[in-house]
Amino acid sequence: MSYVTINKEACIGCGACVDVCPQSALYMKDDKVEVNEKCNLCGACIDACPVNALSIPREIKDSACLADYRGVWVLVEHDGKKPVNVTYELIGEGRKLAEKRNTYVGVVLLGNNVSHMIDDLGSYGADKVFLCQSPVLEHYRTEAYGDVIVDMVKAYKPEIVLSGATTQGRDLAGFVATILETGLTADCTGLDIDENGNLLQTRPAFGGNIMATILCPNTRPQMSTVRPKVFPVPEKTDKKPEVINFDFDFSKITIRTEVLEYLPFEEKISLADAEIIVSGGRGLGKPENFEIIKEFADTIGAAVGASRAAVDAGWISYEHQVGQTGKTVRPKIYIACGISGSVQHLAGMKHSDIIIAINKDPEAPIFKVASFGIVGDVMTIIPLMTKELKKRMNA
Ligand SMILES: Cc1cc2nc3c(=O)[nH]c(=O)nc-3n(C[C@H](O)[C@H](O)[C@H](O)COP(=O)(O)OP(=O)(O)OC[C@H]3O[C@@H](n4cnc5c(N)ncnc54)[C@H](O)[C@@H]3O)c2cc1C
Repeated sequence: MSYVTINKEACIGCGACVDVCPQSALYMKDDKVEVNEKCNLCGACIDACPVNALSIPREIKDSACLADYRGVWVLVEHDGKKPVNVTYELIGEGRKLAEKRNTYVGVVLLGNNVSHMIDDLGSYGADKVFLCQSPVLEHYRTEAYGDVIVDMVKAYKPEIVLSGATTQGRDLAGFVATILETGLTADCTGLDIDENGNLLQTRPAFGGNIMATILCPNTRPQMSTVRPKVFPVPEKTDKKPEVINFDFDFSKITIRTEVLEYLPFEEKISLADAEIIVSGGRGLGKPENFEIIKEFADTIGAAVGASRAAVDAGWISYEHQVGQTGKTVRPKIYIACGISGSVQHLAGMKHSDIIIAINKDPEAPIFKVASFGIVGDVMTIIPLMTKELKKRMNA
């Protein structure tokens, strides 16, 4: 375990670093600072030191070494039958990055009896499938999946590794990046390549108030998780990928979790995959009025979304929030009810195919992005629409 490095010659014993350390890992001894095992390398002390006596030990790989890394990889997430959509989205984006780096797109497919997904992954653009199959990999477990991927990365040296910013993807990417001692940018909303070939990883920072572009210039692979629906699913082709079977000795690892029973997660609110979303905002006026939105959504087979104002007011839970600090969605139809159309809300839904806005204010910004707008009281319009649609469906 490494801790912050102290240059005792330079240290003037001012104690500024001790005051800012959130872990109480720094203390004074003989007028010089010392560090204990509580240090987690957060770096808070570095900026506080007026004489630059503190630094974080980092191995800087030379550029020749970095050049050994080639290829853009996507970690496949699947339910045993087929990959989840974000995998396809990342293959599509990975292709663009790979073209800029003049390299290949690889996918990492782990599981038990999962080879039926190979052609499907190829058809979405994977040039190579790195495959490891074992009963140990039947269900996702951090250590088993993570250890295989770490060994694969060491063997094949990809320069970029992408995974979905899902529960599994976040967990797995964090494990792999930590073992490989490389950088990981979570929850990216944009990816590109700079003139030096580094991955530009853009994500909201400081509570969404700014967009930060993060680079990982000194280590490889460069790792990112990306939210579902940020990128479109690419067109299918009849491409057949090369398959690389990867042997892994599972007896060399200790897996501390045992799967007793597997209960598939059935998401009630599948906002990310919904083709139609009806979202409610502060214009609904009170929490009970969400029932009218829910009834309308049920009638047309839609999922229910919400603005942050509605979520913050406690009218509906956070899982429904659409926007910069909520979910990014890309449905065929997005119906915004009593939502003004703030930039933060638009950030999560502006890529919807058709946007229908209902708002009593004809000047509301949501109308600027809407394909169809209805100016009026949402509490009058939605019940009328529900009634009419129910009548037509039963006709
Ligand atoms: C860092 C940061 C991150 C944020 N992240 C998000 C996010 O992820 N998602 C998000 O949504 N917001 C987010 N916000 C908040 C955002 O700035 C807005 O405050 C929020 O989107 C407003 O929600 P709203 O449109 O429901 O409410 P308002 O802006 O109050 O709009 C209500 C609208 O309802 C209309 N209305 C009122 N009564 C009726 C009626 N009876 N019939 C029809 N229309 C009616 C009004 O004309 C108005 O246009 C974020 C803000 C910050 C600073």
